[in-house]
Amino acid sequence: MTQQYRITLLPGDGIGPEIMAVTVEVLQAIAPRFDLQFEFTEALIGGSAIDQTGKPLPEETLTTCRASDAVLLAAIGGYKWDKLPRHQRPETGLLGLRSGLELFANLRPATILPQLVEASTLKREVVEGVDIMVVRELTGGIYFGQPKGLFSSETGEQRGVNTMAYTRSEIDRIVKVGFETAKKRRGQLCSVDKANVLDVSQLWRDRAIALATDYPEVTLSHLYVDNAAMQLVRAPKQFDTIVTGNLFGDILSDAAAMLTGSIGMLPSASLGEPGKPGVFEPVHGSAPDIAGQDKANPMAQVLSAAMMLRYALDQPAAATALETAVTTVLDQGYRTGDIWSDGMTAVGCKGMGEALLKALG
Ligand code: NAD
Repeated sequence: MTQQYRITLLPGDGIGPEIMAVTVEVLQAIAPRFDLQFEFTEALIGGSAIDQTGKPLPEETLTTCRASDAVLLAAIGGYKWDKLPRHQRPETGLLGLRSGLELFANLRPATILPQLVEASTLKREVVEGVDIMVVRELTGGIYFGQPKGLFSSETGEQRGVNTMAYTRSEIDRIVKVGFETAKKRRGQLCSVDKANVLDVSQLWRDRAIALATDYPEVTLSHLYVDNAAMQLVRAPKQFDTIVTGNLFGDILSDAAAMLTGSIGMLPSASLGEPGKPGVFEPVHGSAPDIAGQDKANPMAQVLSAAMMLRYALDQPAAATALETAVTTVLDQGYRTGDIWSDGMTAVGCKGMGEALLKALG
């Protein structure tokens, strides 16, 4: 029986519409093969939403997203809107989307494709074969904890305060996402904390250990965040899935991403409670410097669609088909400017899209 899915498309700004167009084409191409039907609805976000409605996240966009099975987002932002007050900035639309859909888990893979090993700044033998997933808590921790702000100390000196706080239920729901993700991968979960110093981390570690009994098929380990940062650049192949809080995850996911050396290749997923729509988007921004020039690499967006198929729609075979198409075109030597090297065939965004469609057969 044909499975039908309602997908909200948020092309956003800059290169967003270009990479989204390629992604929609490849999704339409694989749909019949896997007995899938996509109903795409496009909605406004970011700078283009500001231009048309005066708001970076119109209410209608949020309503459309909530009524869909998943949201595919490209990127937002650009020079044009940089001087607007904070509440009118494109980035405010993104934060509004995350909180409006209660997306508390951010999944960021860092996979080194054999064809792009040379793009990494680390040695081939260190990065070859790296395949890591960082699961980061997104709506709690030190970015949101109270009290926060600028205060005056007893001596009248200015004092900046932020509070790292997690409730047991906040920890449980993100650590469970960690275990579920590891289960779909190689079954190894590393929980990263600072339990030797922080009480909030001690609770985090205690809950991870308690929840491990529900996942006998997953091996749980722990690392302090400073050691985790060191291990990521020293011996990244030891990691399968990492689960950690908001601040540590922010830093470690960027470090893990840079192992790959190519921003145009990195997808991500932000998930809420099971059954609610998640948002799937490239890690990179709207690249205004190359927008409208047919130079953008659409592969991070295509790989985000693969994550959507795997993690939101439970269509792993269709996800694998997209991932395989990406590695096939790389094997064939096609490269956009950001990943081009000597001897490779230079293509633009559209050309890469055509190569992907050909690889899908
Ligand atoms: P960026 O990721 O847009 O660009 C950084 C560099 O990488 C640029 O040289 C760009 O040309 C290149 N690049 C990025 N994606 C590429 C792709 N797919 N193919 C080829 N080259 C690519 O980061 P930035 O320049 O710091 O920010 C530009 C705008 O994007 C800003 O307005 C920023 O706020 C916004 N931004 C949005 C998001 C998001 O939508 N999630 C994330 C980061 C930045």
